[in-house]
Amino acid sequence: MGVTFATSPTLFPRAAAAVINAGRAAAARGWVPATSGNFSAWIDENAFAVTRSGVDKGSLTPDDLIVQPIDAPLEPGSSAEAALHLRLYRDAPETGAIFHVHSPAASVIGRAHARDGALRIQGWELEKALSGVTTHEAVIEVPVFDNDQDVEALAERVARRLAEPPHDAVAAPGYLLAGHGLYAWGRDAREAWRHLEALETLFQQILASRSYRP
Ligand SMILES: [Zn+2]
Repeated sequence: MGVTFATSPTLFPRAAAAVINAGRAAAARGWVPATSGNFSAWIDENAFAVTRSGVDKGSLTPDDLIVQPIDAPLEPGSSAEAALHLRLYRDAPETGAIFHVHSPAASVIGRAHARDGALRIQGWELEKALSGVTTHEAVIEVPVFDNDQDVEALAERVARRLAEPPHDAVAAPGYLLAGHGLYAWGRDAREAWRHLEALETLFQQILASRSYRP
């Protein structure tokens, strides 16, 4: 099935390239095993490009993408999780790209902190890769949600939580689904990738520090 253009066909290739490159890079790192994960990027103010259900993120082509209008229900062939992308783009129009991975570290650390409802990160230099963070002393809060196969209900819970950022910590540009993975975003694909890579690496560092005993 080919791509259908609901909007601005001339801008589609740029969004498609962003999604394809992110999928390939995530696959190379082992973060999207067995066709998992979802990647999306803005085309223009009316629509975004998102990976369709069940495709290998390491070998995406433009035919593996769906053009999803912002003001419409999910297009046929969409992953159920595209609802999480759609809700975030609607609620935060400054979002330029959203990358979702089922990486081992994110899955494990989300599950470990499900009961807390959040993971707080402090004391790591890589926090500074998150936009607006200038010191390792900053406290970063990553929300953690219980996994849920009712994605519409999950999208509602996520939206309500993101609308109320913490008063005593920096809200991470991402959230965890317990035992499932990480969503991260940015104003454009470059920033979304930096946030994804920084958060995932922070999770790996935290897990390593908890198991390392000199
Ligand atoms: Zn997922």
